[in-house]
Amino acid sequence: MRVIAIDGPAGSGKSTVGRMLADRLGLTYLDTGAMYRAVAFAAIRGGVDPVDAEPVAQLSRRIDLQMGNGSVVVDGVDASVEIRGPEVSRAVSVVAANPEVRAEMRARQRAWATERGGGVIEGRDIGSVVFPDAVLKVYLTADPEVRAQRRAKEMTDLEYDNVAADLARRDAADQGRTHSPLVEADDAVVLDTTGMEIDEVLDHLVGLVEERTAARRVDEG
Ligand code: C5P
Repeated sequence: MRVIAIDGPAGSGKSTVGRMLADRLGLTYLDTGAMYRAVAFAAIRGGVDPVDAEPVAQLSRRIDLQMGNGSVVVDGVDASVEIRGPEVSRAVSVVAANPEVRAEMRARQRAWATERGGGVIEGRDIGSVVFPDAVLKVYLTADPEVRAQRRAKEMTDLEYDNVAADLARRDAADQGRTHSPLVEADDAVVLDTTGMEIDEVLDHLVGLVEERTAARRVDEG
């Protein structure tokens, strides 16, 4: 199984880099943040308070989640747009801090990768917890202002100040939580994308994947 793990804070470029890297390597891409967003979406839609740990955990085990390329279908309902909205963005941190929800998402992510023989998988705990044997672990980061600008540009109807405040709040929650907080895995390659062009980032990562894959082949004899 060949997994490329990409972690980092919101707006660090994970999704853009992850999608393009998967294309270049001929692998499938999985956005695990969208899975946590989908659980938050299902809770809101089902009238379950996102802070009610047990009902949210049960719901996370029950729902049907179809993760497509840029699309997310929850129990047959296309939630691709709504999971990016402010309501879900506000609710997702508490849902993602729920250890039972995390256990369920972890199992689903591992099953997803096993079915496909690997993939490019993006999130907060992918290299540190979910796939400790990933071929390559990347920790992407960028200056907070740059990250907020990128995110604000993606969402034309959101004000920069609101986006910046939302990112700061989510980063603090993700880094400060007890279960699988956002951390750099010990063996992760840390890449600050603040002043980098996307092609530069991609070329660098493709080179690393090729190196690591060749080294692993030698190791495996
Ligand atoms: O990547 P994105 O910003 O869409 O992720 C939404 C939220 O999902 C994050 O703020 C984080 O709380 C949670 N998340 C997580 N673990 C992952 C991916 C995302 O806790 N592997």
